[in-house]
Amino acid sequence: MPDTCDQATLRFGVPLIICAPSGTGKTTLVQRLRQEFPNFAYSVSCTTRAPRGQEVDGKDYHFLSVEEFLRRRDAGAFAEWANVHGNYYGTPLGPVLDTLKAGRDLLFDIDVQGAAQLHLSLPRGVYVFLLPPSMSELERRLRGRGTDEEASIARRLANADAEIRQAHWFDAWIVNDDLDAAYDHLRAVYLAATLNPAHRPALALSILEG
Ligand code: ADP
Ligand code: 5GP
Repeated sequence: MPDTCDQATLRFGVPLIICAPSGTGKTTLVQRLRQEFPNFAYSVSCTTRAPRGQEVDGKDYHFLSVEEFLRRRDAGAFAEWANVHGNYYGTPLGPVLDTLKAGRDLLFDIDVQGAAQLHLSLPRGVYVFLLPPSMSELERRLRGRGTDEEASIARRLANADAEIRQAHWFDAWIVNDDLDAAYDHLRAVYLAATLNPAHRPALALSILEG
């Protein structure tokens, strides 16, 4: 993926990719992050799954038919895509490039396979993997949430095992045991990334040259 830069601010947006096994607390932590940093842009994915509850087309997801998803995939419209729990999901490439080029930080909520693909084309992103404190606590949270049936809980736990085994390459592991502590760590990883010279390539020279 080509790096692009806003000439006015000479700042690339920071791509922040957050992955977690279902039930770990990703939604809870991401909500907090977006509340504290309202300027974060959010990468709205395409999916072939049906809308749930209050989900809004174009805001939570772009809901597509399988035919339309595959057409866009084959036309190269996705930065990454994956089949998750039997449905297709993909990150539209155009908005990612436009947002980063405008110097705006961008949050991705994608699965581990998608993150691994994105890492190849967007290596300067910050890749965070959230871990549950234990598998028994993960099971407790999935049950406590009250949104999943027994078969779905068993499938999510099996997927969690596989995802955690694939998570060795991430930039940061954050254990979501105490919520406030996990949030402090997530915030710290994000703020540290905003200071990375890769996101502000012209800063030092602009200071030297006045
Ligand atoms: P995910 O988006 O990863 O599937 P959620 O944010 O929906 O997970 O959280 C799953 C459940 O666990 C929710 O009921 C949430 O309130 C609860 N939860 C999240 N973080 C913690 C935590 N640190 N300690 C206890 N419960 C938590
Ligand atoms: P849900 O259907 O519960 O919203 O999401 C199911 C899973 O799909 C979650 O792990 C979520 O992170 C992942 N997901 C959402 N959008 C994308 C995407 O664009 N690409 C990939 N690879 N995974 C996604």
